[in-house]
Amino acid sequence: MKKYNFETEAIRTQNERTQFDEHSTPLYLTSSFVFDDAEDMRASFAEEKEKNLYSRFSNPNTSEFVDKVVKMEGAETGYAFATGMAAIFSTFAALLESGDHIVSSRSVFGSSHTLFTKYLPKWHIETSYFDVNKIEQVESLIKPSTKILFAESPTNPAVDILDLEVLGKIAKKYKLLLVIDNCFATPYLQQPIKYGADIVIHSATKLMDGQGRVLGGIAVGKSELIREIYLFSRNTGPAMSPFNAWVLSKSLETLAVRVDRHCENALKVAEVLEGHPKVNWVKYPFLKSHPQYEIAKKQMKLGGNIIAFEVKGGIDAGRKFLDAIKMCSLSANLGDTRTIVTHPASTTHSKLTVDDRLEVGITDGLVRISIGLENPEDVIEDLLQAL
Ligand SMILES: *Cc1c(COP(=O)(O)O)cnc(C)c1O
Repeated sequence: MKKYNFETEAIRTQNERTQFDEHSTPLYLTSSFVFDDAEDMRASFAEEKEKNLYSRFSNPNTSEFVDKVVKMEGAETGYAFATGMAAIFSTFAALLESGDHIVSSRSVFGSSHTLFTKYLPKWHIETSYFDVNKIEQVESLIKPSTKILFAESPTNPAVDILDLEVLGKIAKKYKLLLVIDNCFATPYLQQPIKYGADIVIHSATKLMDGQGRVLGGIAVGKSELIREIYLFSRNTGPAMSPFNAWVLSKSLETLAVRVDRHCENALKVAEVLEGHPKVNWVKYPFLKSHPQYEIAKKQMKLGGNIIAFEVKGGIDAGRKFLDAIKMCSLSANLGDTRTIVTHPASTTHSKLTVDDRLEVGITDGLVRISIGLENPEDVIEDLLQAL
C-alpha cells in the first residue's frame, strides 16, 4: 500500500466504506458481531479469519484509531485502552513476570510512579530510578532481572528531556525492552521507535484528543510484544470504548495543525516569561536556556506545549499566582485547546516530601502551563497580570 506523509496518513487511514458510501467513518456502537454459521464462528475464534468478535477484543472504530497511531509512530501493531494508565499498567502486567525488575526515569507521571511504588511490588516487581539529568546512572542500575527500561520525554511536570538515542543504545546493549511514554510529544513531534523503543505508549486523553472530551490510551510497537499485551487486555478488559475511538480517530486528522499551533504559541509565551522580574527561571525544550536544548532539537520537531517556570517567592507565591489567573483554567488536564495552569507543589505532588519533590525537579514555586489554542496575546496578558 502507498505510504503517504504524516498529515495525509492521519486523514486518509480509514476503514473501508460500507454499503452506504459514507465519506466519514461511522460510529460502530456495538458490543458484539454476528457470524454466518458455525464454521464462520469457529474460524473467527481460531483467528483463521480476521474478523471482529466482541468489542473488548476489537471494534472497527478502535481498529481505525490504532491503525493511524501505528502509522504515525512507525510501529507494527497496537492496542487501544480506556485510558493512558490502563495502557501503562497492561503493558507491564503483560510483559513482566514476578521477580522482574524495571529501570525508570525518576521523573514520571504521578500515577505511573504510584504503580511502581505501590502496586507492582505486590507481584514482586521492583523499580530502580535514575535522575533525568544523569542518564549515565542507567547502566549501573541494570541487574540480571531487569527487563524493562521505562521513560517519558519531555517529563511531567518539570519538562526535562531524556536522550532517546542513548536510552535506545543501552536497551539494545543489555537486551532490555525500551518502553517510552510519548504523551507530551505526540508522534507528530517525536517517534521513539526510530531510536530503538520497543513499545510506545500514549495517553490519548491529552493532545491526541486535544479538546478535553474523552479519555483514551494506546500502546504500539513490535507485533510479538503487542500480541502479549492484546491477549492480557482481551482477558482483563481495559478496552477503549468505540465512541471514544471514533472521537479520537477524528481528532488525529487535525493533530499536526493543532500541535504546530500549540508549539508556536508555547514558544511565544516562554519567551515572554523568560526574563520577567517575578520569574526565577523558565523551562521550555526549544528555549536555548533549556539544559537539554540540543537533545530536544535532535529528537523533537518542535518544543511541545508544556512550559514549566518558577515564580519567585516559593509555595505561597505559586498559590497566589494561580489565584490571580483570570482567563486560563486551573485544571488537572493538559493538551487541551484551553490553556491550563497548575501548581504541582500544592496540588498533584503535595503528598511528597520536599526532598522527594526536589529530586524530580518540583520546586515550591514551580508552575506548569499547558498552552492552548487561544490567541497567545490573551494568554500572555493573563499570565503577566497574575505575576
Ligand atoms: C495523563 C498522562 C498519563 C495517564 O493518562 P490517562 O489517560 O489520564 O490515564 C500518562 N502519562 C503521561 C505523561 C500523562 O500526561
